[in-house]
Amino acid sequence: MFMPNAPIGQPVPGFSDADLIKRSASSVPEPARRLTEVAKLIDISKCIGCKACQSACIEWNDTHPEMETFQGTYMNPHDLTPNMFTLMRFNEWTNPETDKLEWLIRKDGCMHCSDPGCLKACPAPGAIVQYSNGIVDFVHDNCIGCGYCVKGCPFNIPRISQTDHKAYKCTLCSDRVAVGQGPACAKACPTHAISFGTKDEMKAEAADRVKDLNARGYKNAGLYDPPGVGGTHVMYVLQHANDPTAYSNLPKDPKISSLVQAWKGAGKFAGLAAIGFAAVASVAHAVFAGQNKVTKHDEEEGEALTKEDA
Ligand code: SF4
Ligand code: SF4
Ligand code: SF4
Repeated sequence: MFMPNAPIGQPVPGFSDADLIKRSASSVPEPARRLTEVAKLIDISKCIGCKACQSACIEWNDTHPEMETFQGTYMNPHDLTPNMFTLMRFNEWTNPETDKLEWLIRKDGCMHCSDPGCLKACPAPGAIVQYSNGIVDFVHDNCIGCGYCVKGCPFNIPRISQTDHKAYKCTLCSDRVAVGQGPACAKACPTHAISFGTKDEMKAEAADRVKDLNARGYKNAGLYDPPGVGGTHVMYVLQHANDPTAYSNLPKDPKISSLVQAWKGAGKFAGLAAIGFAAVASVAHAVFAGQNKVTKHDEEEGEALTKEDA
């Protein structure tokens, strides 16, 4: 039965800074309330590649992506850009088990990781935040355009604008979710390939879909909710969950790079310890050794040297 994409049932009262659970390069107090975790579920088996979701994203966010030339693929633009937060990627894939060609179409965009590598890597206080409902948002006023978020993201999502030098990506329509609406892409999808609700609801819906796909011969169907980043708030139902890379290189086991982990883990504390040690050493030197004193002998030697030079 066709099901329209209705607004999500339970309006969430507007969320704000009081709902933050993570803030880049800074700490936040435990929020007084915890929002219910939300998620977007993209069922790739239902997608017809119409790009209504892409258009809805452009319209809602009022972005103006450049029209690119045709290069033998339906994908346009040819990559995510600071003005294109979501992109349909088309891949022709030969199923090794059946030797048949399959057209795998994946909606690419920010996965809203529970453990966001972008936020971990970002050195600017408050440029990236995460709300207790799981949404990861960029706060452009605080962004310094350094691009570390790009390096920290295991999905290669953020893009830096050459116009204002800020980082951009999908917000999961946090402004719409804050007033009880689902994301614009989910609203626009004509086949109900995109659903939105609580994470638990979306997992239950995915389980039903996987059962259905299994019954129709897709024995490797499954849910993509990768544990390496703590799970995500954008999940996929894949017909071939045993090989996510077939879907335009969706990573099989995404993880935050060890360099970023080191910066936020032991490396960060080692750096802070070194700075602290240097500060303590300079104070100790001032207290115990006092200021550098110039003796009478030093003065006489200095005068002699000046005369020699003259
Ligand atoms: S470019 Fe990315 S890492 Fe750098 S400040 Fe902006 S959001 Fe943070
Ligand atoms: S997909 Fe990338 S940009 Fe999005 S939350 Fe995860 S790490 Fe950040
Ligand atoms: S709107 Fe739905 S069916 Fe159309 S491309 Fe997007 S996900 Fe696929």
